[in-house]
Amino acid sequence: MYYKQYGNTEMKVSAIGLGTMRYDEEDIKAGRLEKCAEIPLYAYEKGINYWDTAPHYCDDKSEIVTGIALSQVKRSDIYVTSKTNLGTLDAGDHPTKDIFRKRLELSLDRLKTDYIDFYHMWCMLSLESWERHMDALYGFFEDAKREGLIRNIVFSSHMQGNDIEKVVDTGKFKGMLIGYNALNYRFRQSGIEAAHQKGMGVVVMNPLGGGMIPANSDAFAYLAEETDLTVPQAALRFVASHKEITVTLAGCTTKEHIDDAVKAVENLEEKPAKEIVKEYEGKGVALNNLCTGCAYCKGCPKDIPIPKFMDAYNQMILTGEQKAIEDRLDNHWDISKEKALECIACGKCERQCTQHLPIIERLKEIASL
Ligand code: SF4
Ligand code: SF4
Repeated sequence: MYYKQYGNTEMKVSAIGLGTMRYDEEDIKAGRLEKCAEIPLYAYEKGINYWDTAPHYCDDKSEIVTGIALSQVKRSDIYVTSKTNLGTLDAGDHPTKDIFRKRLELSLDRLKTDYIDFYHMWCMLSLESWERHMDALYGFFEDAKREGLIRNIVFSSHMQGNDIEKVVDTGKFKGMLIGYNALNYRFRQSGIEAAHQKGMGVVVMNPLGGGMIPANSDAFAYLAEETDLTVPQAALRFVASHKEITVTLAGCTTKEHIDDAVKAVENLEEKPAKEIVKEYEGKGVALNNLCTGCAYCKGCPKDIPIPKFMDAYNQMILTGEQKAIEDRLDNHWDISKEKALECIACGKCERQCTQHLPIIERLKEIASL
């Protein structure tokens, strides 16, 4: 296993982390939790020392399964995470310290441990949502840290690079967890660079683009050129080879998935994001009609979040299904397609678009769905 230093700390974490939201569904349903726990135990054997879990994953069993495994290894060998946010606490915008504490204690109990290494302010979809969470919860995170119940305060986010930069600038977090992959890297590249410069750890979820990359392996074959890797392995390696990225999470259901992920980082060579992007830029010719998330179209007079709409449109191009647009807007970006109706066709964005995309037409198409 290849190890990286977590931000400016002394912690050495495996370049591949275990994502624990994919324990075998049948086993979870049947209550065969000990069997599911064989996955983190196998990951441990293979040197994976970063296990990422959360409430609600796997029918709310992921923390329990992960705890079964955690109790069978030397605790200090593993960095374990969990997460919370206002939605999880389900007590409006101002939950009490007691409510926060009960949620945290439940996670500790399920994980069979006295402390969580990385506790996430979970799933910040926008700067507004992040600000609400800071007001309501950050003080509780600090208290829990002072008491030794959590070791590091981190956040997870689906914000774009420029918004992530703002959060990073506050210096309030030891690290962050973001979605990053060969499909959306432009959206977040500036965010990971900013975090790295600030000495933060950067953990990546969704390195396979929510299954989009394996499902469209012809379009992404360029990632695996001149390697003995499969396209999904090459997509993991693409992410893990970023100097700015500390841990790449692989969601594993079987031991084979773990072996695949481990192989993806064999003899890993780290490079700065800028170099990696240059290396691949000319090769993604199959993706010419995709928005790259570069955000050069910013400055819409109607404040339309164009890269997010175009990212949703990408999903249709890649899956061939119109429904994918709405799914993406609702579930990932949390924006209403009606916003697209506000476009006044001034053409500013199209003049700036690096991909020369017909943005106005696409917005109309999205609004009419
Ligand atoms: S054309 Fe529409 S989306 Fe583009 S900048 Fe103008 S108003 Fe915004
Ligand atoms: S400039 Fe074009 S390619 Fe870049 S984010 Fe905007 S729409 Fe996407």
